Amino acid sequence: MPERQTRLNTLRQRAKAAATRGGKKADSLDTSAAQEIHSLIEDLHLYQTELEVQNQELIEAQAQSSAALGEYTTLFDGMPVPAIVVDERFQILESNRMAIALLGLDKRLASRAVSLLTLLQEDSRPVFYAAARDQPSGKSVHLGNLQILTRSAPDPIPVSIDFVRFGTGGEHSEHILVLFQDRTANVDLDRVRRLFQSMLDNATSPMYAFDPEGRCLLANSAMLADIGKPREQIVGHTRHEWMSLADVVKAHNAELRQIQLELHLASEVLARSAEGVVITDASNQIVSVNKAYEQITGYSRDELIGRNPTIVQSGRHGQPFYEQLWRTLTTKNLWTGEMWNRRKNGELYPQDTRIIRILDPDGNVTNYAALALDITDRKAAQAEVELLAYYDPLTGAPTRTLILDRIAQAIRASNRSGEEFCVLYLDLDDFKGVNDSLGHEAGDLLLATVYDRLRANLRACDTVGRLAGDEFVVILQVANRDGAATVATKIREALGAPFDLDGDSVQTTVSVGISVYPHDGRSSAELLRNADAALYDVKRSGRDAWRFFDAELSRAQHRRLSIGRGLRDALANDELQLFYQPQISLADTSLIGVEVLLRWNNERLGNPGPAEFITVAESNGTIIAIGDWVLRTALAQMAQWRSAGMKPINLAVNVSGRQFSQPHFARTVHALLASFDWPAERLELEITENWAMRQPEASAAIMQSLHQSGIRFALDDFGTGYSSLSHLRLYPIDTIKIDRTFISQLGIEPDSETLVQSVIALARSLGMRCVAEGVETATQVDFLQALGCHAVQGYLQAEPMPAEKFCAWAADHS
Ligand code: C2E
Ligand code: CA
Ligand code: CA
Repeated sequence: MPERQTRLNTLRQRAKAAATRGGKKADSLDTSAAQEIHSLIEDLHLYQTELEVQNQELIEAQAQSSAALGEYTTLFDGMPVPAIVVDERFQILESNRMAIALLGLDKRLASRAVSLLTLLQEDSRPVFYAAARDQPSGKSVHLGNLQILTRSAPDPIPVSIDFVRFGTGGEHSEHILVLFQDRTANVDLDRVRRLFQSMLDNATSPMYAFDPEGRCLLANSAMLADIGKPREQIVGHTRHEWMSLADVVKAHNAELRQIQLELHLASEVLARSAEGVVITDASNQIVSVNKAYEQITGYSRDELIGRNPTIVQSGRHGQPFYEQLWRTLTTKNLWTGEMWNRRKNGELYPQDTRIIRILDPDGNVTNYAALALDITDRKAAQAEVELLAYYDPLTGAPTRTLILDRIAQAIRASNRSGEEFCVLYLDLDDFKGVNDSLGHEAGDLLLATVYDRLRANLRACDTVGRLAGDEFVVILQVANRDGAATVATKIREALGAPFDLDGDSVQTTVSVGISVYPHDGRSSAELLRNADAALYDVKRSGRDAWRFFDAELSRAQHRRLSIGRGLRDALANDELQLFYQPQISLADTSLIGVEVLLRWNNERLGNPGPAEFITVAESNGTIIAIGDWVLRTALAQMAQWRSAGMKPINLAVNVSGRQFSQPHFARTVHALLASFDWPAERLELEITENWAMRQPEASAAIMQSLHQSGIRFALDDFGTGYSSLSHLRLYPIDTIKIDRTFISQLGIEPDSETLVQSVIALARSLGMRCVAEGVETATQVDFLQALGCHAVQGYLQAEPMPAEKFCAWAADHS
């Protein structure tokens, strides 16, 4: 620029001079002056051209600079870090997109009047101000823990700030570039770190960690307490910085003392231990033994030291045994097991052994230590226990465990050969009687003799075992049904012969159940169970016989069991319900009574009918509670109907023989009648003929007492039992119910007409009423009417109905 100025001034002076000369002599131009002007014009031209070039350069530079500015703006704006530029007084000049988002600034323009200081949280303000005020330019500063207040978040945001001062060229024109880092995530991390630290600090054992350079990364309170230095002096420093050599030696010595103490303790324990201990060196020469080992082997310490432990080898284990031992020892550094050894006196003994291979820190074997326990006694006891578990001490026969095992063996053999085999389950029919009358000793003798006879009558390959009491099992190897039948017959004969029990001659019979493999079961347990099921059948049908397992029968038993179990919950689960069936007078077709019939709503069992479940309830005793419920519910219902206006009718309730046997039956019935205020004369208890005949006197007495209070009795299912009508005089019976089987034959089978006729006639002569059961046709009604029957009950009139339905039915028929 100054150069151009000088040149311009020179040109100006030259032009002035030339003009002055030309003004003095206007007509005759001085040749030199003309030349001067000419050259001046040329120079001016040159100058103009130069200027034009310069101008062009200037335009280009301007374009370049504005492009650079654009580029800078784009870069600044797109920086992946929130950044702002502030001036000397911390007024925000520029802020990039991320900073706008972080600081919650409305618009770039609006931000211009904002001071960074107002965006900092109160405590952070002086920190930033002090750091930024006197900072020379070009040096960047990091502030780690500041908080900013933003319009976008309710709480202060933790940030770290990096800033750098930079000059802009002009005087006073230094700006500061400020970069933010959002530390919210770090704060969470910090929290986790603190939690972790507190967990470590609450642990009682010292914990620490070092990085690969040996610097301490973390140390918990217990560790710090051990060292006796504050955390700052430990964490981040290498060990030699916080532990003097003297301390190291001291700690090491303490350690050594500890080890010596432990060694002393260990040797004391070893010396007194009942377990033999023998220690060898790496070449397996004995270097030390304890007292117990001397005692077990019979060798003295002096005889053992320097020798190889093979000195006690028994010779009972082959080479492979020891090879396996050494293999295990080399791979696992430990071998445990039982081995037979030999004492000095030549005696063999079983030894529970633990051998440990001891290595130095470099992995070289230094010693072997063997712990030895003489288990002669334990072995003997074990053998005894096994004998007890497998063989019955009374007879010497295999017990259940061994029996099951032998059946399993037979199954395997049968699978190979394809031949059947059989399991026989035996039970003496009168063992209890012998025991009770002749005493236990006689009973034991009987069992032992039974075992001997069974053995004598079977082949050696067959097994005879005793399960319990007087139950025996015979396993017939290779036997089909015919074979089993033959053996069963033979057994019955053999055991049927009289036994001489110390002078008493005793005879007994036996029941036998048989299962056949593979037909009747695939496992030992199943074969045994099914043989038992067959035995149960024999017992039920009179004993003193043998029988094969019958899957069909077993299914029926199974169903009985399920029904029995279901009945126990039926009341509690509210599954029982009463149905009501009307009894109609044949004289005037009026409703004279109702029989209640029990229903069991149990879908899982297929809603069994009373004919099926009543017998089960009788045999498992649930009939007592159920019968009680029936009586109570029926009376409650009748009382309710009566108060609702139903005309008085008789209530007929079926009662099982088991209920009568209850000592309080009569009292219960009276109490129920009283509590529902139901007249005794309107209650009719139906009992079956068979039951009444079974215990004539006892039942008669109970019936009499109930009868005296007005309660009536009906004899149910008459004609199916064996009682003669004259027999009935014994009982206070008011009504005879003629069984459905006879009624259904009326008009079909001429004899039945005669039979029904004589029953009715006789009943009348004894002053009893007759009710015909199961009346289904008008023909039957005609017959019955002609024969003088009193009442009918059957589907023709009505099927048994639920309470509500019966109530409606009764209203229609009154
Ligand atoms: P049951 O005492 O002889 O009762 C009559 C049975 O014959 C009832 O069978 C009834 O539904 C049925 N029946 C009535 N009219 C006709 C008909 O016209 N045709 C045919 N085919 N059958 C008819 P349910 O209800 O199955 O009872 C069977 C047996 O169960 C009863 O025979 C009774 O011995 C016994 N039972 C029922 N409820 C009880 C009870 O609460 N306690 C006791 N101990 N036994 C009961
Ligand atoms: Ca009945
Ligand atoms: Ca009946």
